[in-house]
Amino acid sequence: ASGQGFAHAGGVETVDIVLPLEASEDVGEWEKAAAKKLGVAKVCEVRLLKHSIDARQRKVKVQLRLEVGLDAPLPEAVEPSWEAPPLPKNAKTVVIVGCGPAGMFAALSCLEMGMKPVVLERGKDASARRFDLAPILRQGTVIEDSNYCFGEGGAGTFSDGKLYTRATKRGPVRKVYETLVAHGAPPRIMVDAHPHIGSNLLPNVVKAMRESILKAGGEVHFQAKVSGFVREGHAMRGVVTADGREFVGDAVILATGHSARDIYQLLQKEGILMEQKAFAVGVRIEHPQPFIDAQQYHLAKGEERPRLLPAAKYGVATKIDGRGVHSFCMCPGGWIVPAATENDEVVVNGMSLSRRDSPFANSGLVVTVEPEDTERFKKEHGVLAGIAYQKDLEVKAKKAGGGGQVAPGQRVADFLRARVSQDLPEMSYFPGGKSSPLHEIMPRGVVSRMKDGLRLFDRKIRGYAGADALLLGFETRTSSPVRVPRDETLQHPEVKGLYPCGEGAGYAGGIVSAALDGMKVAEAVAAKCRVISDQ
Ligand code: FAD
Repeated sequence: ASGQGFAHAGGVETVDIVLPLEASEDVGEWEKAAAKKLGVAKVCEVRLLKHSIDARQRKVKVQLRLEVGLDAPLPEAVEPSWEAPPLPKNAKTVVIVGCGPAGMFAALSCLEMGMKPVVLERGKDASARRFDLAPILRQGTVIEDSNYCFGEGGAGTFSDGKLYTRATKRGPVRKVYETLVAHGAPPRIMVDAHPHIGSNLLPNVVKAMRESILKAGGEVHFQAKVSGFVREGHAMRGVVTADGREFVGDAVILATGHSARDIYQLLQKEGILMEQKAFAVGVRIEHPQPFIDAQQYHLAKGEERPRLLPAAKYGVATKIDGRGVHSFCMCPGGWIVPAATENDEVVVNGMSLSRRDSPFANSGLVVTVEPEDTERFKKEHGVLAGIAYQKDLEVKAKKAGGGGQVAPGQRVADFLRARVSQDLPEMSYFPGGKSSPLHEIMPRGVVSRMKDGLRLFDRKIRGYAGADALLLGFETRTSSPVRVPRDETLQHPEVKGLYPCGEGAGYAGGIVSAALDGMKVAEAVAAKCRVISDQ
């Protein structure tokens, strides 16, 4: 397939075409444009392979990659499905701690390779977990093992469900999409350049994945919080749960995410090597979605977003005094949500539904924190200084908010002038905000860089730092401040049989990269098991 406009008689071609927005949903227009590009009078059938919107100019264009049947209909498309071979009687057992994207994809991969996964998850199944979000939203009470971060599907279940990743070199992204579609995600994610699922659909996808794990012979245990390790010298044999159950196996995959601070403490207590790494902290910034639409789609004053365009997104990034300042996990048409995992803290993050139809656009706006910036916590916390740095901010947010999950907030214009806001604009954050001096609460190095960043971004997106823009504190859980090292076999260099995995161990940042890491680690476990059984 050339894509350059050459037709091979009787064959199938791939072409890239560009259409004006209004024509972009009309299959007849696709066929005409494909025929023109291929230099033929007409084509027999077309199928969409890739869809992306180019809104750099006022006249929005849509880029489409099409598969074209020249003289005959295209071969029928194969629907993604997931199946694993029956488990062999002597299947190796792999204990997987954490049922987030890393743990779930590791479990499915184990089954595909004939190993039995035993998944242990501190939280509840996705249906029960949904009910536990009401107390945090309405009364500001965090249920510490069941919340926006903990429970079936991990931090990805009640999220924006963005599946866009730059991690294409890390593994088979398409396989991740196919697996999600096989479990009920919209097939559209296979063609969109910036795919997204949404919190209304994600819980059913993770439930279907769990069904697949069980059906293929794996185990999934909810409310099974791991609180100890079973070790024999330098080898990890299994884990112990808080209610005293012991699970042993041929390998332990630790995929507990970056909010499982008790796991980092356990690793520290056990003397298991960890390293500090850079992370980022900051705020959620929120604007009215129509403002972001107007800026990104170059709309005239009062002009509404065309029906065919989704809620607009943006990304901003710069470097100031050696530290990155950037937007993070932008949620068009979304909500700011309370992502705390303990009751003495306030943490904000963002989510959306598949329609992305809330009147607000929110995004993390964060500044990189290097290990050297956490110096004041090192004496007491050692390698966990970065976590202490995060926690310190989260506790300060709780105090400034004044109770429950009320978050400290400030208008951007006031933040830039270092003054407390008289009032806060309307916001999507259900527990509400309290006007607070964020410029005094956050570390000085974060404040000054964020201010410079905001001024710069305001030049890119006019009004970004304007009167209606709100900052809510704090966005601290962007990535793990700790890396749990691995050697070339993906095991911990000092503890054989322990496979650090996913975002919590420092190898992923987002749903897709966590899923890819889960698959990669499962392959490493299979390789080790093969070596052992060959001996
Ligand atoms: P996690 O998803 O954190 O899963 C870890 C699991 O381990 C959890 O279920 C936890 O309960 C469990 N666990 C922890 N400790 C224990 C223990 N001791 N015993 C047993 N189980 C334990 N990423 C995107 O790519 N796109 C988005 O749109 C997006 N939106 C987000 C919105 C929100 C509100 C949040 C919080 C995150 C969002 N993210 C998003 C980030 C994404 O969810 C994470 O990057 C991803 O889930 C990391 O996967 P993981 O499997 O490594 O860890």
